[in-house]
Amino acid sequence: MTEYTALRADLKQRLEVIERSFPSACYNARVEDFREREYPQLNGVTYLDHAATTLYSASLIDAVSSDLKKNLFGNPHSLCPSSLETTKRIQDTRVRVLELLNADPEHFDVVFCGNTTAAIKLVADAFAAHCDNVKSGFEYKVHTDSHTSLVGIRSMATNSEALDSNRMHTFVNSKQINEVGLMAYPAQSNMTGQRHPLSWAGTLRRNRPRWYSLLDAAGLVTTTPLDLSDVAAAPDFVALSFYKMFGYPDLGGLIVRKASSSILQSRKYFGGGTVSFVVNPFHHASDGLPHAIRKSGDPHEYLEDGTVPFHSIIALDHAISDHNRLYGGFKRISQHTQALGCLVLDSLNARKHTNGTPVVDLYTDKHPNDPDHQGATFALNLRKPDGSFVGFNDVLKLASVRDIHIRTGGLCNPGGVTKWVNLSEQEMRENFAAGKRCGDEWDLMNGKPTGAIRISFGAMSTLDDVARLVSFIDEFYVEKRRHVNATALFPPSSNVARVGKISIYPVKSCAAFDIPANTSWKIMAQGLEYDREFCLIHKGTGKVMDMKMYPKMALIRPSIDLDTQILSISCKPALTSLRIPLHENLSTHSHPITKKCNSKVCGDIVVVQAYSDKWISEWFSDTLGIPCTLARYPSAPDGGGRYMKNHLRQGNGEIPIALRNESPILVVNRESLNPVNEAISASAGKASDISVFRSNIVIDGPKPFDEDKWLQLEFRNSSSSIQLLGPCRRCHMICIDQMTAERSPEPFVTLSKLRTVNGKVYFGQHGTFIGDSSSQIGSIKVGDELDISYIDLDTSDTDSGESCSSGSTAITADTAVDITEPAVKQEPAQPSCVLQ
Ligand SMILES: *Cc1c(COP(=O)(O)O)cnc(C)c1O
Repeated sequence: MTEYTALRADLKQRLEVIERSFPSACYNARVEDFREREYPQLNGVTYLDHAATTLYSASLIDAVSSDLKKNLFGNPHSLCPSSLETTKRIQDTRVRVLELLNADPEHFDVVFCGNTTAAIKLVADAFAAHCDNVKSGFEYKVHTDSHTSLVGIRSMATNSEALDSNRMHTFVNSKQINEVGLMAYPAQSNMTGQRHPLSWAGTLRRNRPRWYSLLDAAGLVTTTPLDLSDVAAAPDFVALSFYKMFGYPDLGGLIVRKASSSILQSRKYFGGGTVSFVVNPFHHASDGLPHAIRKSGDPHEYLEDGTVPFHSIIALDHAISDHNRLYGGFKRISQHTQALGCLVLDSLNARKHTNGTPVVDLYTDKHPNDPDHQGATFALNLRKPDGSFVGFNDVLKLASVRDIHIRTGGLCNPGGVTKWVNLSEQEMRENFAAGKRCGDEWDLMNGKPTGAIRISFGAMSTLDDVARLVSFIDEFYVEKRRHVNATALFPPSSNVARVGKISIYPVKSCAAFDIPANTSWKIMAQGLEYDREFCLIHKGTGKVMDMKMYPKMALIRPSIDLDTQILSISCKPALTSLRIPLHENLSTHSHPITKKCNSKVCGDIVVVQAYSDKWISEWFSDTLGIPCTLARYPSAPDGGGRYMKNHLRQGNGEIPIALRNESPILVVNRESLNPVNEAISASAGKASDISVFRSNIVIDGPKPFDEDKWLQLEFRNSSSSIQLLGPCRRCHMICIDQMTAERSPEPFVTLSKLRTVNGKVYFGQHGTFIGDSSSQIGSIKVGDELDISYIDLDTSDTDSGESCSSGSTAITADTAVDITEPAVKQEPAQPSCVLQ
């Protein structure tokens, strides 16, 4: 029995016990039955991001597509038969939505809009306009555990305040009859899955008759029925997103309690569907006459501007039917997902390191066996045996390799992050000042996480989704007793190395051009000649494109002919190839062949010369299926003004790097791949080729990981040398096969077990070229012999963060030890992935 089967069997037993307290939850087996057929997009994937969106079924897409093919749907604003058909379907779907929420159409209306955020904004705009009309302000109280879409209203209110649960409870229970105000909170936290009392809305109405309640139900309704049958207790406004309930269509709704709807009529804008009659469209605004008569009646009549998204509304009708057919209603989905939630919470809480410390910090003090207080969404961070945190971005990278889909970061819930990660406002401000922004790579600052990992379940989640997650955490994050063999298994260093292979990447992020044997290649302070001198830029964003986003770039093969001075670019199976002269005066050409434009590399603005020839941009756009074009970065000796970030050892910040991500030259030791490949083979994986590391120079070094201690490589045939700057941090991009552009888990999975420092994976060394005294230009050729000089481990100041050294311990599959702190003094500002 493999470890996974054993774990799954154990979890299955536990789930059976849990399900006894959720009587209608026992449909795990049923979902397993139809999941492959209904959700083919999930094959081989562990999808744990239902709080962001759940997934649509194949039968839903089939039903929608056959309906659209069979019937003629006109614009609902016309009066012809096709138009009336659409109007009829929209009217019916409105009723079905209300029925789904147990909301009586006599008392409630649904306003269709883009998403939850748009629904919230409709309410906010109306409040702002109302206060403008009556020349008074409005008060806003918002729960601290809110999504940013509720936080945004704060800037429109006259006074606003964020309240935690206790203060919110006190607030709704205190009487006040004068001021107008809006109170908003999530039914379920999008971050932690904690649920907040639906009763607050009714209590508020009793105690504060001029206050309104806005419930953000987007998080709750993914897995749980919302019941609005009690009109007196229902929130005034409920915002939700239908794609979060059914996976499709991309549509949102605002459920309005009709008795509370008049304030929404204050909204100022009108247009399309919301106009009853335009009296005088062109009169002067200051003459005080109305432009148009608005529609009155039900809220949707005066709030849905323009043509409603009618195809989506028709699809929503099918989504409700299909979902009901597959799952038998949200009540059952709720029981099923709560049961899986109990299983995952208990399993993660049980994960301990060998010293007994917990592996998982779970950000909730509630349990999903209590569905009033906790849903099937969880936020967490992982800890190492010494209690320090694992960076959530590192977890994301490894999870991606295992095809586990999770959400990480600030989770659009600043209040939740502050509370659970225990970040003070001061620390948030300091992080911001230091450059932290939503969605960037900074996952730990001063040892504290800047966000969290979120996992969430949906109707089609199964036991295997839980088992795969737990097995992933066991595999990578639970410390096991390792066999550490401290004696080197390799002969002592011979101090001599050879240049085994030289590669440049003339077009950044495209295939390598290997320098032919017997060819000397120019080498300069900013790196090898023509390395990353060209790049592709996206026509929409203007950004320099990289392989992370566009793996197919690996198939574009540039080559350089020094005799003819031509760069040729080809890509199989395309029949044509491009030929670009290396020496053309780009700017003074009579018919300009390029134009200057601003672009971005690793967050830095760079000015590139984009080729304006249509043929060139069409060739790349057709080859990649992405609108883009070729650009050149002027190869000025100063590296065009981009310099190495100075977190690397000895980097004084003055080393030019042009379009290279991090440093002028990347060096790897071919020997170091051997133990990695041995470990991969031992786990029946496919061995990796050295090309995945996209180095400039492959050194045939004396023994694996010897490069950790290299200080300098001196050319025997000249007085120039390569100075090593520090280890290169890796991400899952090393999993892209450079011949086929296909992804696989290796070598990242094995490297993350063999070679991690603080959860970061390192392979290879950054370097820079130092010419002999007379020039900063030299040359290099395959076979060149190099003398290695080593870091003096005894005298080196360890605080200066010398390269990651394993001392005398060679790192092999069975001698996995954490190497000492490398030269990264502070978190790199950008992903230090040298897959350029
Ligand atoms: C997803 C979500 C939102 C935002 O929904 P959009 O569809 O992106 O507008 C708001 N609040 C909560 C609780 C959510 O889960």
